Amino acid sequence: MNDVLVRNVRPLHAGAVDLLVRDGRIAEVALGVQADDAQVIDGAGRLIFPGFVDAHAHMDKTLLGLGWYVNDVPQNLRSMIDNEREMRLARGIDSHTQSSKQARLALAAGTTHIRTFVDIDTGWGLSGFEGVAQTREDFRGALDIQIVAFPQSGMLVRPGTVELMEDALRNGADVVGGLDPSTIDRDPARHLDVVFGMAERYDKDVDIHLHEPGDLGAFSVELIAERTKVLGWQGRVVISHAFSLGGVDDAHLGKLIDLLLENDIAIMSHGPSGGRPAPPVARLAAAGVRLCTGNDGIRDAWGPLNMPDMLLRTFLVAYRNNFRRDADLELALHISTYGSAQVVGAAEYGLAPGAAADFVLLPGENHLEAIIERPKERLVVKGGRVVAEGGVALV
Ligand SMILES: [Zn+2]
Repeated sequence: MNDVLVRNVRPLHAGAVDLLVRDGRIAEVALGVQADDAQVIDGAGRLIFPGFVDAHAHMDKTLLGLGWYVNDVPQNLRSMIDNEREMRLARGIDSHTQSSKQARLALAAGTTHIRTFVDIDTGWGLSGFEGVAQTREDFRGALDIQIVAFPQSGMLVRPGTVELMEDALRNGADVVGGLDPSTIDRDPARHLDVVFGMAERYDKDVDIHLHEPGDLGAFSVELIAERTKVLGWQGRVVISHAFSLGGVDDAHLGKLIDLLLENDIAIMSHGPSGGRPAPPVARLAAAGVRLCTGNDGIRDAWGPLNMPDMLLRTFLVAYRNNFRRDADLELALHISTYGSAQVVGAAEYGLAPGAAADFVLLPGENHLEAIIERPKERLVVKGGRVVAEGGVALV
């Protein structure tokens, strides 16, 4: 008896329905489904969402559970990178323990898929990667975790990093990461050639952190697009943050959007804090650019203002983009679910028959109100199995 019947739940833009789950998949969505031997979950009129997808996390570096981190770090990128590196080396942060804490909180909040970056660094070799890879195993079946080999401290400027990234890619890392090719490695063409070279050798997707502002960042977008085209990697490249898309004039933005579309490059925007320029999410979506979002760092040496809840992230993306209309809030929710799922390659995602039975039930008037209210009482189902309930992961 593998059947589970979820009675009386409300999908977006639909009245109450029942969901029949068979062998981990949604078999039927209708009112009054009959399934005599099925295990019954009473949805009691709750809202149903497909499992939330965090397409940009840093699970190896969270300081969750380690006490308040006193942050007096100078607020520039290089200082924040160096501070974190020194702190991690001094304190010996265990990435398996830390990523497990974050995984439990994320799961309890309804996240069923995470793409996490993991710092690959000559200071600690592959230990960060191996710890998160262990977490990926521990949570298999409850939370899908995809790992990006990420040169947080620089790649070319720190000899030995490329070899470590290749080791990680040979040993189960899923995606090649890159970082600010001009401002960190100070050699954009070579940085990107090495990143795309690894992508080709190991047949992996690419996800590049691009904080570079204005025209400099726009130039990096062009270089990324060129390499995407040459390699035939359309549909396999994400530019994360891409602040420069909010820092160029309208005509220039139009050209960059054309490049993104021609090369099917996705943009990750997490709705950054502060006044810095950020990608105009509604404009990009209207143009047809694929969009995803993620929580970025959670309670780490970069800052404390975050928790691993994709409804909170949806709120922040909406807030940052000045979304007020229902259609815009719905766009933000779409990005946290279907948009991010598409980018991380979540198979058979959604709430239609045939989809994997990954979903979240929570109380509320409607799906948009849930972005604001964010009730902690969530029932999370992955592959037809209850994996979190009442704000607690059962894994
Ligand atoms: Zn990041």
